[in-house]
Amino acid sequence: MNDGLDLGSVLDALPDIVLLIDRAGTLVGVNEAAETLLGWSRSEWVGRSVLTLVHPDDLALVDSSMAALLGKRFGTPIEIRAQTAAGEWKWLEVVGATIPERTDALLCVARDITRRRVFEVGNRDLDRFQQVVQHAAAITLLLDRAGRVRSVSGAFTRLLGHDPTLVIGRHLVGFATPDGAVALQRALNDAIQRGHTARCEVPMSVRQGGTRPIRFEIVNLLDDPVVDGLVVTGHDVTDLFTARSELQRLALHDALTGLANRAMILERLGSVVAEGTPACVIFIDLDRFKPVNDLLGHASGDQLLIAVGERLREIVRPADIVARVGGDEFVVLAAGVADHATADRLADRIELGLGAPYELGHGPVRVTASVGVALSDANSTVTSLLADADAAMYAAKTAKRGAGTAPRLDATERRERAEELGDGIARGEVVAHLQPIVRSDDGGLIGFEALARWEHPRLGLLRPVQFLDIAEEAGLAVALGDAVLDSACESFARLAVGPDVRLSVNLSVGQLADRDLCDRIVATLLRHGLSPHDLTVELTESATLPGWTGGGFAAPESSLMALRALGATLALDDFGTGYSSLTYIRRFPISTVKIDRSFVEGILERAEDRAVVAAVVGLATTLGLTVVAEGVESPAQLDALRALGCSAVQGYLIAAAMPVDELSTWVNQLSATP
Ligand code: C2E
Ligand code: CA
Ligand code: CA
Repeated sequence: MNDGLDLGSVLDALPDIVLLIDRAGTLVGVNEAAETLLGWSRSEWVGRSVLTLVHPDDLALVDSSMAALLGKRFGTPIEIRAQTAAGEWKWLEVVGATIPERTDALLCVARDITRRRVFEVGNRDLDRFQQVVQHAAAITLLLDRAGRVRSVSGAFTRLLGHDPTLVIGRHLVGFATPDGAVALQRALNDAIQRGHTARCEVPMSVRQGGTRPIRFEIVNLLDDPVVDGLVVTGHDVTDLFTARSELQRLALHDALTGLANRAMILERLGSVVAEGTPACVIFIDLDRFKPVNDLLGHASGDQLLIAVGERLREIVRPADIVARVGGDEFVVLAAGVADHATADRLADRIELGLGAPYELGHGPVRVTASVGVALSDANSTVTSLLADADAAMYAAKTAKRGAGTAPRLDATERRERAEELGDGIARGEVVAHLQPIVRSDDGGLIGFEALARWEHPRLGLLRPVQFLDIAEEAGLAVALGDAVLDSACESFARLAVGPDVRLSVNLSVGQLADRDLCDRIVATLLRHGLSPHDLTVELTESATLPGWTGGGFAAPESSLMALRALGATLALDDFGTGYSSLTYIRRFPISTVKIDRSFVEGILERAEDRAVVAAVVGLATTLGLTVVAEGVESPAQLDALRALGCSAVQGYLIAAAMPVDELSTWVNQLSATP
């Protein structure tokens, strides 16, 4: 080293590197530690610029540090990387010093801190740590005491879409929804005041629109001198939210239709009643859903229920609740509806809307619905509202079925009634009464319709509305049909009318599904000395729906075709209440259409009813069909029907359905009058 200094051996004994350089950085002298630590021999090393050993990224630091040293005794220690002879990098902590007598030279002391740096990487290498935080799936935020964002990780932008530069300095709660902001602020306060960790789940607004649920964990590090803030991590909990709300939905919704379920409607009804909000409850029951379900199969039945649910949703306002509360029972709750006119209008819209045909896999299906309305008042309870709506619905259903109302039976009573009916059929209590059908012009007899009656030992004479459904439900449709046919044939044979008079029987859906139907009917006819030529089979449109159009429902179709081939005729009953009837008329060998009683009822007052009758008559005439008008009660109705060209009539004006003795008298009187 410099010969003016006598410390060469002392310097060589030091563990730290000591080097002397000139102002350009060229090495002038070096101690032994430099050789040991960096691997360069003094001979290779002297005369080179030390800057060639410095990591390129650290050169700027070295440069500025050297400049800063000018005019000072000592510099500030810097940490730089230097390359060893073997090509490795070592971390050196370097501090420079000026030498008063030698302005052309600088003294540097360097200490190997590589080992220390390696230790520190995990905790203090901010570059690497920031990279980790920046790309982590979770949001990391540093907030100041006031809740303003000091730093923010990339996940915040990825999940919520907000530009980081616009987030810094803003209050984190400002990025939550109004409700969320309250919860988030509460958690922040909690963390600040109690000095601990707080958690919350908050819907955060997404810049592009909508929200995303984030679960935040807030750690209070305000007392930590290094951090001095609130460290907030946030996880996207969308999946959890989805799963949770799906569970909730399942608990309160009907799995098939997605509508509210009984539990939910009861709950909503409960709060409406508690609040005293005026409301209307509409009870809806599908008519003859069971036959559709039986004949078409459960998959189609389900499809139909789903379609009904969709229609209900379309008809009501978005805020109204539509629930499925039973197999084919629905309830609509319209809060805020306080007057009868509005409620009735809604009920009418529902009834009309549900009545339009449904396109199921097999073709169009039509079902009608019975609808009952109840309005809340000061004394309403959940139970009373539902019961009132249900009762109103039942009254509507009964009225639709025509004469005779049946009190609603509960499940036990229905079971008992079904048992009684089974016995009654076996004992011959179920018989046919016959109602005459006559020509409209001259009153000439052309047929009788057999209508089922149950001579109940206790309750007296019961009409179909009181036991037909129960028979279908209990699987007694076939037995009942057989009994009625047998009784009808017996009476009809006794009357011994001419060959132009036919016996009409109604066939139920349950009977149509019976494969032996044709054989048994023919056998019964023959047993009474009759033939298929004497028989007309009446089918309701709902009974004839898609099953007829083929595709897996050969049974009803082939039975009917067989009967027809043997000489029986087919009549389409209740015509006009259906929609797709015209298709069926064209497709099947129907010879008679029976215009539904409801049109005859309105024929004098309602122009549209008259129009329907006129259209049906026109169509029927073109196709060569007989038109029978049902339920003719007054001479004025008869005149109107006649004027419209309706060929035959049936109704109380002519005669009600009668047992055979009364019928003989009636027939004799008819033939006595000219
Ligand atoms: P439907 O086939 O439309 O029968 C006509 C219904 O109208 C009968 O009621 C009849 O008594 C009634 N009626 C006849 N004339 C008049 C009138 O001038 N005014 C009024 N208001 N009503 C009149 P019923 O006997 O109570 O039968 C009701 C329904 O039950 C029938 O309607 C039919 O669909 C069904 N039904 C009756 N008997 C049988 C049967 O043996 N088997 C099957 N499957 N269904 C039957
Ligand atoms: Ca009929
Ligand atoms: Ca009818």
